[in-house]
Amino acid sequence: MSNQRDDLDLIEEKETEITKDDRKKEKTQKKNDETEYENICFMCRRPESKAGKMISLPNDIHICSDCMQKAFDSMGNANFPYSDLLNSGNIHMMDLSDLTNLTNQIPKRQKVKKKKPKEEEKKEVAFDIHSIPAPHKIKASLDDYVIGQEHAKKVISVAVYNHYKRVATGTQDEIEIEKSNMLMIGPTGSGKTYLVKTLAKLLNVPLAIADATSLTEAGYIGDDIESVVSKLLAAADNDVEKAERGIIFIDEIDKIAKKKNTNQRDVSGEAVQQGMLKLLEGAEIEVPVGASSKNAMVPMATVNTRNILFICGGAFPGLEDIIKERLNKQASIGFRADLKDKYDNDPNILEKVTLDDIRNFGMIPEFIGRLPIVFTLQGLTKEMLVKILKEPKNAILKQYQKLLALDEVKLDFEEEALTAIAKKALERKTGARALRAIIEEFMLDIMYEIPKDDNIGRVIITKDYIEHTGGPVIMMRGTPALEG
Ligand code: ADP
Repeated sequence: MSNQRDDLDLIEEKETEITKDDRKKEKTQKKNDETEYENICFMCRRPESKAGKMISLPNDIHICSDCMQKAFDSMGNANFPYSDLLNSGNIHMMDLSDLTNLTNQIPKRQKVKKKKPKEEEKKEVAFDIHSIPAPHKIKASLDDYVIGQEHAKKVISVAVYNHYKRVATGTQDEIEIEKSNMLMIGPTGSGKTYLVKTLAKLLNVPLAIADATSLTEAGYIGDDIESVVSKLLAAADNDVEKAERGIIFIDEIDKIAKKKNTNQRDVSGEAVQQGMLKLLEGAEIEVPVGASSKNAMVPMATVNTRNILFICGGAFPGLEDIIKERLNKQASIGFRADLKDKYDNDPNILEKVTLDDIRNFGMIPEFIGRLPIVFTLQGLTKEMLVKILKEPKNAILKQYQKLLALDEVKLDFEEEALTAIAKKALERKTGARALRAIIEEFMLDIMYEIPKDDNIGRVIITKDYIEHTGGPVIMMRGTPALEG
């Protein structure tokens, strides 16, 4: 009997130890969070960096001196209805312990990380002049992932190199290096987003991808323009300094072209371009932390966009016609008179784009002026699509091969099968985006059937299978041909 009681005591003791441990862990976690994140004023929700030193009250409540002062002022005011009662000392304004639960209502994603002290900052800076990879190295790394688009890769590598060199030097001297914001023009699925994503990954900087179609002038339905900076801050884990070195990619920029022949206010076109001007150039922007819209309950942070690299991209449908019209006009007048329709079938017509063409498309001159680097991407050809299937570091074929290799099955594609897939993708006119959809269609059956039979050792995807005139070649383990 007494033995049993001892056991029970022991279990109880262990349990209390475990809960003690848990509590300890919770406490240290809280302490870490406290040191890593800024205190936020309980009344006005401004972070410490904005509102100044806070007065700390029990239960993790912090109040900035402004709010504290306001509270005292209103109490001291002769009009304050209960001033007599208060002075008598019999009444407490509020019971702070009631607020315990309220303080926990600030979710972690809305907290602002503290800026690091100055000395540490120096060590942490990812880009000082010597550590920015040279343009040829940036391009070589891009080559591992992005097929073709040689010109675009070269331009972007140099621009990024210069941009981060500018960030590293600062602007103390009189020769200020201009910001290298970019405008990328190219058909859908030609790799615009992919290029920027790869670049951000290689450079280890935060990236925000926004869609210009959802942007509207502040106050109208839609995201306001500054929400793109808010997105970047979220991508940088609410670390303002990290965000200030990041990249913002705004896709579908052609959708905010000036609307033609309209009498209404153009809230999602020209007004958005106007609104973006100061962002592109560099300004202090107040953004909500952890939320997409500003409201009284969301803490705010100030982000300076001076060193944020903006890359805008779009397919600009119809731009080719504008270029052709200009070139044909030039060709048919004066001494250089030439064939009138010389440019009608030129596949690389986009490369001949000028700032005037972009302006005619509907972008306002001030906007174009803030994107000094303009370049184009080519539409993908059949040969490029085949390469995209098999060459990049994380090519789709490699991914499937790896998946099947886990089942010890070798997967191969006939060269003609790849060409057939590329041909099908071209017909869909969505660039490389169609490739994955097509391959997935064909691989579904393979991925479903193969694991059924342990004896299968190799699968070859044939052109006939892709063209629906036959099936894949399936080989059993132990067949001599398997080694080939
Ligand atoms: P968009 O030009 O419309 O932004 P994306 O960059 O989103 O097109 O391309 C869609 C997908 O196609 C990418 O995720 C990538 O896998 C693939 N892709 C497109 N272009 C290339 C390319 N040049 N090299 C390698 N993959 C590419």
